[in-house]
Amino acid sequence: MRKLFLIIFIMAWLSPDVFSKDTINILTTTEDLKSIAEAIGGDKVKVDSLGRGYQDPHFIQAKPSFMIKTKNADLFIRVGLELEIGYEDLIIDGSRNPKIRIGTPGHLDASEGVGLLEVPTTTKVDRSMGDIHPMGNPHYWLDPENAKIIAYNIAKRLSELSPSDEAYFQENLKAFNRKIEEKMVEWQKKMEPFKGRKVAIYHRSWPYFADRFGLKVACELEPKPGIPPSPGHLKEVIDIMRRDKVGLILMEVFYDEKPARFVAEQTGAKVIIVPNSVGGTDEAKDYFSLIDTIIGKIAEGFEN
Ligand SMILES: [Zn+2]
Repeated sequence: MRKLFLIIFIMAWLSPDVFSKDTINILTTTEDLKSIAEAIGGDKVKVDSLGRGYQDPHFIQAKPSFMIKTKNADLFIRVGLELEIGYEDLIIDGSRNPKIRIGTPGHLDASEGVGLLEVPTTTKVDRSMGDIHPMGNPHYWLDPENAKIIAYNIAKRLSELSPSDEAYFQENLKAFNRKIEEKMVEWQKKMEPFKGRKVAIYHRSWPYFADRFGLKVACELEPKPGIPPSPGHLKEVIDIMRRDKVGLILMEVFYDEKPARFVAEQTGAKVIIVPNSVGGTDEAKDYFSLIDTIIGKIAEGFEN
């Protein structure tokens, strides 16, 4: 008996991958990535997110608690396209955790393989002018078809980090994709009556969503991504909205409502405040309820 124990002990020690049941600590930058990572990783992972869905993902501030979370991570997942430019290097360097350095298996850019929108055609991008989408539009998670790509990237990387669990991650990936496909039928049906309708948006969070569900973005309240509305720009917005009969202003949860309320007053449009990330409102608990919430609010806005 003792001999058997000894053999098992030695085997476990020699091949940690087969015997260790250690969970993989995943740290994501957004709650959307967290939700998808949880769906794929199941009980093999523990996931935490640095940003919260009710915060502007472009302006997350690094906090000392980030360093501690980063220190213990086995896998760091970002949205990419410079969404995390304000804090990523700082916390990865500060954590002194070599496992999650950019370019290592412990660092994943979830945008790999996503068909990007609004990629600048000129190489001259002036960040000092406040352009916070210099690599293209980073809000790709709002198209459920892109959620499948994110899920695929996560499943692939988790399988590399823990090859013995590959079948488990692949099963979860299949289940996730199946659920997206089922929900997609329901979501498209709900959006069907509003296909081709024009909306105004505050920030360019919505082009991927709009493309998928057939809405047209007529104008933005921000003159450029990251630049707050100016009176001159709002005048242009009002003109466009009157001309194109735009009845809805889609706005994220974390911006000042005043400009949108002003434009609404001038045009008779309605302001719809929608979460653009999981955790943006209480209803948006995971990826599926996020899209449910957005579509529910838009449909309600158009109907009433
Ligand atoms: Zn943005």
